[in-house]
Amino acid sequence: MNNVNQIIKNSKESVLKTMSKMDFFTENDLNSLDLVKIGLLRKNSVYRHGVTRFLPKNKWSSKVPDPSCVKVVDIHPLLLNYEWETYREIIIFHEFIHCLGYLGHNKQFYKLESLWPTINQKDTLGRKFMEVLKLKNSTWKWICPKCNLKVLRQRKSSGKYICKKCNCKLIDEAI
Ligand SMILES: [Zn+2]
Ligand SMILES: [Zn+2]
Repeated sequence: MNNVNQIIKNSKESVLKTMSKMDFFTENDLNSLDLVKIGLLRKNSVYRHGVTRFLPKNKWSSKVPDPSCVKVVDIHPLLLNYEWETYREIIIFHEFIHCLGYLGHNKQFYKLESLWPTINQKDTLGRKFMEVLKLKNSTWKWICPKCNLKVLRQRKSSGKYICKKCNCKLIDEAI
């Protein structure tokens, strides 16, 4: 088994183990989640850190989807790094709730999500993770020569953008 598969397998086991202590999910929920395949998102994805992809609806008939209707849960490849372990498990747990048929981000969903022991770190870690991804995917800095505002972008501004504060044309600097 290669490293990626090993990390995914361990994370899944760890998430399911934590879920088994929550007194909400049934044995059946956990067993069927164990069969869900976990794959990877494209590495240039910035705003999406995990996604549950269901099979086409004609392949499952039940009104409320369950884990057997899931094609794959994809997570961001950077989440496999050791330093993102906490956030990785939060994301997998989040997607597993979707797999169990809670599709929307509503009150009920967030109530379930809040059962996760480190859920209070989710927003901070998510923001941090996004910043890292933005930086990784940027090749240009747009700089205001007057106030020194810096914006990270994938393409050049080519003189088409101005600083809102100073009304100055932004200049490009390669990262
Ligand atoms: Zn979601
Ligand atoms: Zn400025």
